Amino acid sequence: MSDRWIEVAPRVWVRRLEELDQSVGLVIGDECCLVIDTGISAESGFALATAVREKTDLPWQVAYTHDHFDHWFGTSAFGESAIWAVGDGAHYVSVGDEQRKAWAARYRREGREEDARRIGATKLVPPNCRVSGAIGLDLGGRTVVLRQVGLAHSDNDMVVEVPDAGVLFAGDLLENGAPPSYDGAFPYEWPQAVEYLLSWKPAIVVPGHGDPADYWWARAQARDLAEIARLCGEVAQGFLSEEEALAHNPFGEAVMRTALDRCKALAPAAPEPQAPAAAPTPPPPAVVYEVFDYSVDLTQR
Ligand SMILES: [Zn+2]
Repeated sequence: MSDRWIEVAPRVWVRRLEELDQSVGLVIGDECCLVIDTGISAESGFALATAVREKTDLPWQVAYTHDHFDHWFGTSAFGESAIWAVGDGAHYVSVGDEQRKAWAARYRREGREEDARRIGATKLVPPNCRVSGAIGLDLGGRTVVLRQVGLAHSDNDMVVEVPDAGVLFAGDLLENGAPPSYDGAFPYEWPQAVEYLLSWKPAIVVPGHGDPADYWWARAQARDLAEIARLCGEVAQGFLSEEEALAHNPFGEAVMRTALDRCKALAPAAPEPQAPAAAPTPPPPAVVYEVFDYSVDLTQR
């Protein structure tokens, strides 16, 4: 399979990338277009930018669904443009630098020298337009909504809604063909975030990885995410063993293990046991100095 376009609604495209089975987006208005995520490296970003130019000559803006490297390391190919995200630029630079080093080291360990070089050479392009809550972005003749959601898959998730076409770009809040990733996720809050973003019943839902699907597919995955949260809660409260949760869950043992570990990491630390407080020492008796008036002859009363 090579990279290919799917038109999910009029002038709303999904680019299916071979690498990591990603789905990135393109929404075309009358005056400009919006590119949703840019791929894992400068090379993949350049290929995406070239493919976008096959569809439109309009100026582009870029939206990052979240800060995981595979969603924004390709942006250097897009030159100067408005880049929308929930996290701010400083956050992206700091997190991006960590991910660049960590993934280059990981690829090197796996003997994937070319991939290590590609990711190590990535020029980080942080966002320059911050989304807090939700904004409507006018592309000319159509307005898309950039909406902050979460905590969920990460602490900076953003989805893109195309209301006139009934399309939702969900980032990694939903994944098709592979289980959702709980690394750095918030297992208890995630299902609520998905319920919220599905509340307008989008007809087409584009996951961050895997094929576009419909509303009912997304609802089914929302139920599975809620089941993971329920299992995590029961384990945390001692109603269920970890072994039972690992053996009976919608996404398999590895995903459940990550979710359980993540819940433990997020749980507030138990308070340090304190030595019993010493009995309070009574205050010293107050000394009362009474002034006796000797000038009064009490015998005369
Ligand atoms: Zn992700």
